[in-house]
Amino acid sequence: MPTRMRMPMTDPKIWLDRIRALPLESPVRIMNVCGGHERSVTMSGMRTALPDAIEIIPGPGCPVCVCPEEDIYQAIQLALRDDVILVAFGDMLRVPVNVAKGEVRSLAEARAAGADVRPIASPTEARQIAEQHPTRDVVFFAAGFETTTAPVAAMLMEGVPSNLSVLLSGRLTWPAVAMLLESGEAGFDCLIAPGHVATIMGPEEWQFVVDQHGIPAAIAGFDTDSLLAATYSVLRQKIELRAFLDNCYAGVVRPEGNPIARQQLNQATKVETANWRGIGAIPASGFFVHPDHAAHDARLRFEDYSADARRRAGEMPPGCDCANVVLGKVYPNQCKLYGKACTPRTPIGPCMVSDEGACRIWLSGGVEHAA
Ligand code: SF4
Repeated sequence: MPTRMRMPMTDPKIWLDRIRALPLESPVRIMNVCGGHERSVTMSGMRTALPDAIEIIPGPGCPVCVCPEEDIYQAIQLALRDDVILVAFGDMLRVPVNVAKGEVRSLAEARAAGADVRPIASPTEARQIAEQHPTRDVVFFAAGFETTTAPVAAMLMEGVPSNLSVLLSGRLTWPAVAMLLESGEAGFDCLIAPGHVATIMGPEEWQFVVDQHGIPAAIAGFDTDSLLAATYSVLRQKIELRAFLDNCYAGVVRPEGNPIARQQLNQATKVETANWRGIGAIPASGFFVHPDHAAHDARLRFEDYSADARRRAGEMPPGCDCANVVLGKVYPNQCKLYGKACTPRTPIGPCMVSDEGACRIWLSGGVEHAA
């Protein structure tokens, strides 16, 4: 890690003053790739407090939003047809898939139709439910980024009841950023990298942004202070025509991350090309259950209900711009359905369902429809 250019400060106003004093000569687009970052940015009013020349763009930071349609469909079908207890993190339950009118289109609708679908908050709950129902098959539909997948890996490594299996739909964050940068249409000049992911995987994972693309980058935590520090860092790098990876979450993010969590991820999962909803296949971007744990891999234990046509059709619902929102190509309020047909009560796309979805965050934060 290079020497950090900033002084320790804890007052957001000091960071804002420093940012406002920077001699910015042209607009700068800064992407964040974390739903928690986007929530802090939106709810704190940081965007409006920054100079107009600075754009903060929400990027691929919502794992629920990119969970492929075929995996959600598979979970719905397992719940409906295989008489399993299907457990999943709460915000997965309302994510809709594209099906013919009248068919069950979400796990919540499957539950309403009589399937045993239960929201959980942690892998521990999945284990407890399996222990409480030893004669039933329990399937844990685990969709999430590194921070969600690591506890699932830990659960598998500790050993789970024989009736518990995992439908793992884990994703790594950095390959989506790499794909954007390699596309030639990244749409951003600087990156704020996710501190919670770096806590586990290590800050080194983001070094490619600097080394291969010359893009200023800084790792930030969830609080406004850390985000402003990271914003200041990347802006100053940009102005000084240099790029390095600054760790603005140094109290938590350590070199090489969390070695135990990484070891558990390596042993309990394998990383392969994976499909991202509305975006397509991204190499080395998906966590799948490791063959050593095949007995607990729901993809092997149960019938595959996802026909190839569904894998190919894994797009967002008609009219939904979620894929472009996730990639930072458009802002949430530029979708014509934002806040009108699509609201948290009547979500059309996954970005309006998840707490980490940019559309939901922006609408909750009072951001109005684009003119
Ligand atoms: S507002 Fe709704 S329909 Fe539009 S992109 Fe967001 S989730 Fe999709």
